[in-house]
This record gives sequence, structure tokens and C-alpha cells, in this order.
Amino acid sequence: MKKFKRILVANRGEIAIRVFRACAELGIRSVAIYSKEDKNSLFRTKADESYLIGKNKGPVEAYLNIDEIISLALKKGVDAIHPGYGFLSENTEFARKCEEAGIEFIGPTHEMMDSLGDKIKSKMVANKVGVPTIPGIEKAAKTEEEVREYAEYCGYPVILKAAAGGGGRGMRIVRTPEELIPEYHSAKNEAKKAFGIDDIFVEKYLEKPKHIEVQILGDKHGNIVHLYERDCSIQRRHQKVVEFTPALSITEEQRQNICADAVKIAKAVDYRSAGTVEFLMDVNGDHYFIEMNPRIQVEHTVTEMVTGIDIVQSQILVAEGYSLDSEMIGIESQESVQPRGFSIQCRVTTEDPLNNFAPDTGTIDMYRTGSGLGVRLDGGNGFTGAVISPYYDSLLVKTTSFGRNFPDAIRKVKRALKELKIRGVKTNIPFLINVLNHSDFEAGICDTGFIENNPELFK
Ligand code: ADP
Repeated sequence: MKKFKRILVANRGEIAIRVFRACAELGIRSVAIYSKEDKNSLFRTKADESYLIGKNKGPVEAYLNIDEIISLALKKGVDAIHPGYGFLSENTEFARKCEEAGIEFIGPTHEMMDSLGDKIKSKMVANKVGVPTIPGIEKAAKTEEEVREYAEYCGYPVILKAAAGGGGRGMRIVRTPEELIPEYHSAKNEAKKAFGIDDIFVEKYLEKPKHIEVQILGDKHGNIVHLYERDCSIQRRHQKVVEFTPALSITEEQRQNICADAVKIAKAVDYRSAGTVEFLMDVNGDHYFIEMNPRIQVEHTVTEMVTGIDIVQSQILVAEGYSLDSEMIGIESQESVQPRGFSIQCRVTTEDPLNNFAPDTGTIDMYRTGSGLGVRLDGGNGFTGAVISPYYDSLLVKTTSFGRNFPDAIRKVKRALKELKIRGVKTNIPFLINVLNHSDFEAGICDTGFIENNPELFK
């Protein structure tokens, strides 16, 4: 069993703060790294220590510089690194180099990441353990002939996806053979730019699916539990906007099946730490595995609200060697995970919904937050005087509610959003309120096409 003294967070913004808070409660010293562009950002002041990195690098590259981050960690006596989400969180080389340097990487091993981080490989894992995947070819289409052949096999419409994909990049829906080749090349280019790998594969495009995902937690002793599902169907351009739990549009039997399938995939690779198994559910109620994310996710908050389990602290404790059923973590068995109530998270971003969600920048002149019963805020750089730069993700504050039932959770999150008064930069708050007011949302029946098919939400 290890006892961490210092944890470095190789990330920025709200997720860095989230991890610092977990460290503080566990009596561990937190270490922040920040780029020169983040000199005045809030997160750096929330850690016990902070250090400038990437002096001669760009704003994003600063957080991707593996060797510099590891050598700083060694110099400062750090015993573990938490990667957050994005940046290096799914980088197997980073996980391996941490391990080689004798620093614990708070996440799965690099071997596990290797077998799950790639969407083609993870579909093969699912197939092996009998979990349904979306019909397609589990091979990269290397030539125009191959992509044509694979698309014919799947039958139009198809979706082209980057094997290394994330954040909806390198993804293209193709409805006719004429569009295929141009879209194939454009997906390849986008994937190359975003991930450095341009492997593209083909699968059947499902019409009007729901995105249902399952939170997994595993320890180093072979124990794996699920923390139930989240409905993340409210998406814009394949990116999540509002997430909630429990899902309202599935039966109890579907819930049990989907969670059992998620555990099967995690067990297949002897998974450890927090991870998310993502599925799409078609209009017939059949679910298909799409990918597993071997890291903490933005929307982990809603699961914490209904289960009472601190997922980030659990990640740290598991990395120290605690078993899930230890007193520190307190998950005695799968049956002991008993969610109660409903939780909704809205991603408040500095984007202008009236201008096609263009990211807005500038100085925040006024920042007033809501609070009160059933409201949780996970803020990034929100304070009066904060400068919102164009360099990073536009997520400003995750606003999460907890309610006894779904209408109660809606009322609480709506009230919290209305209490948020932000001036100086534009935000998507009016748009989020329109989503929450929609009768389909109230009924919990939205599919992934909801935003696209409801232009009135943008008003
Ligand atoms: P990323 O890793 O880039 O986020 P995912 O594979 O997780 O990509 O998919 C993101 C979203 O894209 C899904 O939630 C869904 O809305 C859409 N999507 C992915 N695959 C399909 C598919 N085969 N059919 C329909 N929609 C899909």
C-alpha cells in the first residue's frame, strides 16, 4: 500500500480544481502546472503549489510536454500524477513514462489504455466477450477501394470514425455513395491533425439513437463495480451539452443489461480506476457498445450526486492500493451501490448560441453564482476580472443539480442557471434554459438529434 504525499495534476481549469479538492480532503498536497497563458487563471491558486511549464511552447503544447512534466514531478518529489480528461489523459506513452519514472499514473495501466483507447481495438474486446457492437468493419479503411467496400457492406447511411477519435473529431455521417470519398479524405485530414493518427473505420449510422453510458470503478485486486448509467443524448455536433442520471427512457431490465455488459468489457481487460463504457441505444431499445473512455469524464458529477461516491477520491485511493470494499472507499459490493434521486448537469460555456456557438473571449466584468439546496458548481475560471482566452476549451462552470425526482432536479438546475449572472463574455445559459424547458427534455426522451432538430432552442 502506498501513501501519496504529493499529487501533480497534469491539467487545467475545472478538472484540475476538482482533483485538488479531492487531494485536500485526503490530506495530500496538490501541485499545479500552468502555461504562461494561464498565469492568472483560477485553478493555479487552488493548489498548494504551482509551477510554470512550457515557457517556449504554445498554450496547448505546454500541457502536452511529457518529459518536462515528468522531470518537474521528479524534482518536486511528486509521487502520483492525475491526468484529468483531455490533454495527456489517454496517452499511453505518458502513462508508461510515469510508471518508468516511478511515479504512479492515476488511471489504468498503459496496457489497458492501449487495448481500450483505440475504438477499433475496443470493439474487438467487446465482440470477444459477446457485447453487441454497431455493425461495421473492425479494421481501418486504408484505401478508397476499401472504404467503398466497407460502406457497401454496412449499407448507407454510414458513419466514418477516427480510431483514435475523441470530442466528435474525425467523424462524418455519409448518406450516399457520392459523398463517401470526399468525406473519407476530410475525416482522415481532421484525424491526422487532431490525433496524429489518421486511421478511419466504417460503421452503420444509427438514426435517432440515445447515448447511454455506464460509470465503472475497478481496483488493483480484480474488483470491478458499475455506478449505473448516465443519459448523454443531449449533444451538439456529437458533443455532450446536458447529462443526467438515471436515464428515464429505459426499462429496469434494459438498465441491468447495459450495466452488466459494461462490467463484462471492464473485466475483459481487468480494468482498474474510473472508466466509462459508452453505448448507443437504437429506437428498438437494443444497445450497442461504441467505446470505453479510460479516464474521468466531465459528467462524472451526476453519478456522484446520486450514489454519494466520490469518484475522483476513489481513483486516488485505488491508485494507492485500497480495495473498493476498504473502509476508505466503502463499496462493499455491487449491491451496496444504491443510487437515489435524480441529477442533471449543464455545461455552461463561454459560447454565443446566437452566433453558432462561436467561443467568446474577453474579461468577465461580473460573476455571481447560484447555490442552495441541491446545487453543485464545478467552476473553471469564473470570477470577476477573469480573462477568457481563446486558447482552451470554453467550459466555464458545470452546474449540477440533485432532486428527489426528475422535475425537482430540473427546477433546481434551472434556478441555479438563472442565478448565474455573468457579464463581459457571452454564455450559452439562455440556450441551456430553452433545453430544460422543452417538453421532450421534461419527459426524458430526447435522442442525439434533439438539438439539431429543434431550431427554436437557439432563440
Ligand atoms: P467521440 O469519442 O469523438 O466522442 P463517440 O464514438 O463517443 O465519439 O461518439 C460520439 C457521438 O457520436 C455519440 O454519442 C453519437 O451521438 C454519435 N455516434 C457515434 N457513432 C454513431 C453511430 N454509429 N450512429 C449514430 N451516431 C453515432
